[in-house]
Amino acid sequence: MRLETGVAPVGDSIEVIDPATEQVITRLPSAGPEDADRAVARAKASFKTWRDVAAGDRATLLRRVGAAVEAHATDLARLESRNAGKPIGDALGEIGMVAATFAYYAGAPERLTGKTIPVPGGVNMTFKEPMGVVALITPWNFPLAIASWGVAPALAAGNTVVLKPAQLTPLTALELERTALEAGLPEGVFNVVAGQGSVVGERLVDHPDVAKITFTGSTAVGKRISARAARTVKRVTLELGGKSANIVFADADLERAAAAAPSAVFGNAGQDCCARSRILVERSVMDDFLDLLSTGVASMRVGDPMDETTEMGPLITAEHRSKVASFLDDDTTVVARGTAPEGPGFWFAPTVVTPNSPGARAVAEEIFGPIACVLPFDGEDEAISIANDTIYGLSGSIWTENGARALRVARALEAGTLSVNSNWSVRIATPYGGFKQSGTGRALGPDALDYYTELKNVYIAT
Ligand code: NAD
Repeated sequence: MRLETGVAPVGDSIEVIDPATEQVITRLPSAGPEDADRAVARAKASFKTWRDVAAGDRATLLRRVGAAVEAHATDLARLESRNAGKPIGDALGEIGMVAATFAYYAGAPERLTGKTIPVPGGVNMTFKEPMGVVALITPWNFPLAIASWGVAPALAAGNTVVLKPAQLTPLTALELERTALEAGLPEGVFNVVAGQGSVVGERLVDHPDVAKITFTGSTAVGKRISARAARTVKRVTLELGGKSANIVFADADLERAAAAAPSAVFGNAGQDCCARSRILVERSVMDDFLDLLSTGVASMRVGDPMDETTEMGPLITAEHRSKVASFLDDDTTVVARGTAPEGPGFWFAPTVVTPNSPGARAVAEEIFGPIACVLPFDGEDEAISIANDTIYGLSGSIWTENGARALRVARALEAGTLSVNSNWSVRIATPYGGFKQSGTGRALGPDALDYYTELKNVYIAT
């Protein structure tokens, strides 16, 4: 049986598919609620000792996990590339980031300090305490990278972790569990449960022994999880969808902006929460920009993810490809299109559209595929107003040679993670997350640790 949607029925096994060939890579047992319970019980038991491991020893263990990931980087990258359909060069970059994320948060345990606050009659002290069992629910687009953004800071802060990877791409998470054990992480500290969101994910969200949920995925599921988690007043971090703007002013270095625009939206085949899928171009340079962009799109290398020269792979499933294709409707005009292989594989050519009506779905909705929507604007105020006209607020770019304008616009945009004259959103050392319906809380950087600790305040009367 070939699984068109990639989603295994409850009680069945998960068929893991290579989206570039449509071949089954492997079959895994699909975990049930009892598996989630067992993983939480293991994590709860090991929390008692992990929280008291000396900070320096926790740091050493995290460093070892990072080094072990680095040692297995080629194999992990090949697995990620095959399972998620991403170009091997991108996959190697992501696995490198996983190793570096563990190395970065290995610096945290010994720096997790509180404050002393003199008060009348005594002194208050604050402590950043671990929360307990943290459950991470992750998506299929950057499977291991996004998992590491939660696993590393959560463990660094003294929590134990249960990770539920997306059922479409569970393989590297399971490898990470093995790698971490080999590196010396004590049993039960980091646990992976591969199963369906509606079964394992919901069980983790409901579980009374889970203290915190970090969910990365669609805004629709994030809302559901948020409401469910409220029943047990769980701490929740949500990293959700986006509809980010790439704003190109007439005073920008147009060639640089146009050269960067394709990777900003077609990277990971557009299956990127940070995709700058709305390209806003100042009207006076629209024609020139579109000429440059069309040339870039036509020359994109779409094909075999294992080929080191490939820039874009397939979409994740046939079902997802149909959803992406539905955005090419009567409300849009295709103004540029690249090429893609015929199949097998869930291919979709990189495509640039302009809207025929303000209500076009391609303008407002997250497409999560390789379709960019180009919109004209007149002046700074209109650019800001169009960019902010969305329920999302994840990321975005501003292209201009005017530094004051760059800062003005950056301050006015309702988005959590912006870049000027660059596409770059995500760096290990800086906070990452969304405004509005793109989420709550922040990943990465020193601030992420606040989302994996409880602040305790102790008064000592003197
Ligand atoms: P999804 O919401 O369908 O699934 C994400 C995870 O949630 C999966 O592990 C899934 O099994 C699980 N899940 C599904 N239903 C659940 C439920 N009822 N209870 C608990 N868990 C459940 O998202 P996806 O299709 O895997 O990923 C694409 C989406 O993720 C896009 O909207 C994208 O923008 C978003 N995303 C956001 C970020 C970010 O950092 N903001 C990063 C990557 C992806």
